[in-house]
Amino acid sequence: MDDHRWMSHAIELANRCPASTSAFSVGAVVVDGDGVELAGGWSRDTDPRVHAEESALARVTDRSRLRTATMYSTLEPCSKRASRPNATCAGLIIAAGIPRVVIAWREPDLFVTCEGVALLIAAGIEVVELPEFAAAARAANSHLTF
Ligand SMILES: [Zn+2]
Repeated sequence: MDDHRWMSHAIELANRCPASTSAFSVGAVVVDGDGVELAGGWSRDTDPRVHAEESALARVTDRSRLRTATMYSTLEPCSKRASRPNATCAGLIIAAGIPRVVIAWREPDLFVTCEGVALLIAAGIEVVELPEFAAAARAANSHLTF
């Protein structure tokens, strides 16, 4: 199943994140409606505060392909963000017009209470959770204590 293949790739990206004691390590992949990877990203890959979904979206050159795309993220997209309050990942995904989001792990209430999935659903986005990948998504965050 393609969802599993792309989420495995997102987990690989999550394992590339430089560890931070104040943020999660997340991997994200954007795939268009034809199953072609548009971009990938991971936490802190281009700057010390960038989020995985934000980074992946910034790399997409043909924005029109986002209208059929799926965003794979190892963690629930954020709905509150200290570093860039006006650029939450849920908000960026909604603004990009992406119709489908697949996640592995709901964000634990460690830094903030996340309402990302609820916001995405309220915006009409299909959200699929793959709990079989939650342990791997969490393992990329062994530097954090829950
Ligand atoms: Zn985020």
